[in-house]
Amino acid sequence: MTSFPLIDRLRETLGPRGWIDLPDDLEPYITEWRGLWRGNCMGVAFPESTEQVAAVIRLCAETRTPVVPHGGNTGLVGGGVPQGGIVLSAKRMNRIREIDVANQTMTVDAGCILADIQTTVADAGLFFPLSLGAEGTCQIGGNLSTNAGGVGVLRYGNARDLTLGLEVVTPSGDIWNGLKGLRKDNTGYDLKHLFIGAEGTLGVITGAVLKLYPAPQSHATAMVGLASAEAALALFVQIRAIGGDNLTAFEIINHMAMGLVNTHIPEARNPFATSHAYYALVELSSSRPADDLRAIMENCFENALEGGIIEDAVIAESTGQAAGLWRLRESIPEAQVTEGASIKHDISVPVSKVPDFIQQASAQVAATLSGTRVVAFGHMGDGNLHYNLTFPENTPENNDENDQGFLDQWSTFNRVVHELAVSMGGSFSAEHGIGRLKRGELGRYGSPVAISMMRGIKSVLDPHGIMNPGKVIPD
Ligand SMILES: Cc1cc2nc3c(=O)[nH]c(=O)nc-3n(C[C@H](O)[C@H](O)[C@H](O)COP(=O)(O)OP(=O)(O)OC[C@H]3O[C@@H](n4cnc5c(N)ncnc54)[C@H](O)[C@@H]3O)c2cc1C
Repeated sequence: MTSFPLIDRLRETLGPRGWIDLPDDLEPYITEWRGLWRGNCMGVAFPESTEQVAAVIRLCAETRTPVVPHGGNTGLVGGGVPQGGIVLSAKRMNRIREIDVANQTMTVDAGCILADIQTTVADAGLFFPLSLGAEGTCQIGGNLSTNAGGVGVLRYGNARDLTLGLEVVTPSGDIWNGLKGLRKDNTGYDLKHLFIGAEGTLGVITGAVLKLYPAPQSHATAMVGLASAEAALALFVQIRAIGGDNLTAFEIINHMAMGLVNTHIPEARNPFATSHAYYALVELSSSRPADDLRAIMENCFENALEGGIIEDAVIAESTGQAAGLWRLRESIPEAQVTEGASIKHDISVPVSKVPDFIQQASAQVAATLSGTRVVAFGHMGDGNLHYNLTFPENTPENNDENDQGFLDQWSTFNRVVHELAVSMGGSFSAEHGIGRLKRGELGRYGSPVAISMMRGIKSVLDPHGIMNPGKVIPD
């Protein structure tokens, strides 16, 4: 057990369950979940209330000790990896504070697990639409700090759009109670939006008021086989015109991504007898039980088949079949890991430019390193693609040395993919944030005026730079 004046005071503030500092115990808090980064810290604080968070931050401000907020550690850009100082875990702050059915809002602690929020809300007959592959582990505080997207953005927006109020402990240890459940409130700067997406660099989110929606009562889920990304775009335009705001998800999967899932995920079953160049996972949902979404889908697919837009389609007959189709989509990262080294990109472009992006990026990737496999999938309805590259098929052996040789080209591929996305009016980081992975990219592509404003905001709110140093803002 380490003993320093600060640590003694933290122990005293937090009690016996509120502080750990044995090296083995720290491991999960200093290591990124895939093992891509490993940092260090003097210990982890587990406050159980907003007041305890404020007390911890005041001590850290006084001693100029860095603080790294820690949610579920599912982030993909190394934002939660500490480089000294302390980690502050929101794990013990996991209360649902209130559900206001008439106001269609809920107030939660930041440490609530996203899936627990969804279940609690469903039990109350309502719906919280934020949904992503890591929902069993990630915390709402982490979701808000990364402005998470996921599979419901097309219909409901991202985490920012789902938030009405926030409670934050500032870097000086003050508590800002902005927990308003108002849909109209034009009273000066909307400060909550500074903290949403700030990745813990401006303060600790301790609570939030979230928007709830009527629970979907009917669903129609389908997998569609397509000859090209252009065809996927044409289908998207048609189904959106017919389905209106019943269109909840439109995900795209390329042939390579589907192939890896079929090879590596035993329980995943491609529903088609023949393979297609692209697949679209399409979901309609409605809060009115009598809405015949299946009929809307069938009508759309019949027209699209006749018009030569789609090659084939299967509509799920049961919730089990629908879950099976979603499983295909959600297993892609797992399947890609099994295949060997991969270089990942999380880009967005206007939806209308997705096919053009895929076509140009793939040509440039092939010219950069012949045989590199493009695993492109993601939230096409949001213009957001996970444009990932997997170890070339023609490499003689899949081993650590060859993996490393491929990974050494990460920044070369970043130039290809990010330059293209940005040149099309897109973003080099659509939903995963900046963290430590993409600070250099923000420096390269961010507007100098925007970066200067970010630095100004940071220095006003966090003059001693204690909140998550070395993240987001470029050097
Ligand atoms: C399988 C899988 C699928 C995923 N799918 C998606 C997806 O579809 N869409 C998407 O957007 N992301 C996705 N992600 C990324 C990740 O799940 C999200 O970024 C998630 O929002 C992170 O939440 P977390 O609680 O794990 O945060 P962490 O990883 O713990 O932290 C993320 C960042 O937020 C900060 N932070 C955490 N809690 C707080 C707090 N209370 N106050 C202030 N700062 C805080 C941390 O310091 C860090 O910088 C996926 C990840 C995985 C593993």
